[in-house]
Amino acid sequence: MEVKLQELNATEFPVPVELEDNIAITSLSQLYNWGRRNSMWPMLFGLACCAIEMIATASSRFDFSRFGFEVMRATPRQADLMIVSGTVTKKMVVPIVRLYNQMPEPKYVLAMGACASGGGPFKEGYNVVSGMDKYLPVDVYVPGCPPTPQALLFGMIALQRKIDGQSIANGDDVPWYGEGPAEPTPVPVLGPDIIDPRQMDMIRRQAEAAAESMALLGARDLPAATQMVAAKAETAVAEAVAAPVDGDALSFVLPTGGTPWAEAEDIREKRRLRALARKALRASRRAQAEGE
Ligand code: SF4
Repeated sequence: MEVKLQELNATEFPVPVELEDNIAITSLSQLYNWGRRNSMWPMLFGLACCAIEMIATASSRFDFSRFGFEVMRATPRQADLMIVSGTVTKKMVVPIVRLYNQMPEPKYVLAMGACASGGGPFKEGYNVVSGMDKYLPVDVYVPGCPPTPQALLFGMIALQRKIDGQSIANGDDVPWYGEGPAEPTPVPVLGPDIIDPRQMDMIRRQAEAAAESMALLGARDLPAATQMVAAKAETAVAEAVAAPVDGDALSFVLPTGGTPWAEAEDIREKRRLRALARKALRASRRAQAEGE
């Protein structure tokens, strides 16, 4: 990439025209931003149809390397730009946030397309997140379904402009230079519905109140779909316990006690128990069939 020193010159200190290509008088923030904005490395991952347009933007016709975005990195450890390109499902938001936490700071997020920006055509679908900004701090939104490569390039240039306006002296602009270590973004928990761990206390309180059928003021009823999943889990465990299986297998499928909602903080454990129950049930049926 061609280095243009004129870009760096601060206007309050004019440099003689004949020296403009040799000398730059600038501030530390400007120098830092200039280096950062011209060497952004996007992370190599795509989620749905928008990813095809992102790939086109990287290829020779549009070539985002011209703007300093260079090669995409296949590891979050070497990337400082996450382009969320495609539909974000509840299943995928968990690894996406985990990958974001693994990126070194400073780091940026670009939501590409209607899906990543707000759910798009699948908004309020049973399996889709209504916007990546509910989980990560998004810097730039690129509208479209899908956005064209030109639109993505425009979004990337908009991000460069945003970086130009930041100052390393201002902790609000660049939180990673604040005091103390930066807090990692909480990784959502995938359960019957996706759960924000920051809300866990409230969810537990509401779940316990609902499970005990207490008509507490302000306690929210559990959604019907969630109750259905809990009922199915209980049925699967009860069936497995009732089925003639050997003692060892039975010890795996017995519930750990309490109401299902007392275990709300460990939804993965409940899913594991259900899977084990189904497995034990299948094994016992197979054994029965072989016996006959
Ligand atoms: S915004 Fe449109 S093109 Fe992009 S992932 Fe969603 S449905 Fe596909």
